[in-house]
Amino acid sequence: MEPDITQQPTAEEVAAALLAVAALGQDNRFVVTLRRLAYQFHKLHEPAPMLYGVARSSKWSALRDEFLEGKCCASCGGTKSLVAHHRVPFHVDQSLELEVDNLVPLCEAGKYGLNCHLLLGHLGNWRRVNVDVDSDVIRWAHALMDEV
Ligand SMILES: [Zn+2]
Repeated sequence: MEPDITQQPTAEEVAAALLAVAALGQDNRFVVTLRRLAYQFHKLHEPAPMLYGVARSSKWSALRDEFLEGKCCASCGGTKSLVAHHRVPFHVDQSLELEVDNLVPLCEAGKYGLNCHLLLGHLGNWRRVNVDVDSDVIRWAHALMDEV
């Protein structure tokens, strides 16, 4: 079948075409430039990461980094492997994805043998959501402090 040239190429097709041309090249710098172009083009145009069929906002990673700045895990107080947990998952309500009040800093560091994000945010299963995350986090924080 003839390719439809009126159709916009996908990022994969452009990257593949650039790599195909690069494969024909003799000049090393030319080949490297084309390969780099293919990589950058693909990175620039790759679809936003999806979770349960919902694309992440392009603003998410910057907002998350800013939110986590200077914070510690609400449960164990650790500062390693911090994540911003969504109280209401964004695939349930996308309007809350970038809502700071919907976020809780939790860790996945395994301090005290716990993955706080998995345990308290998701009750041990990433597909579950703990609707009592706030009270559970406080309970665990007190329990862990008493242990020290
Ligand atoms: Zn923690």
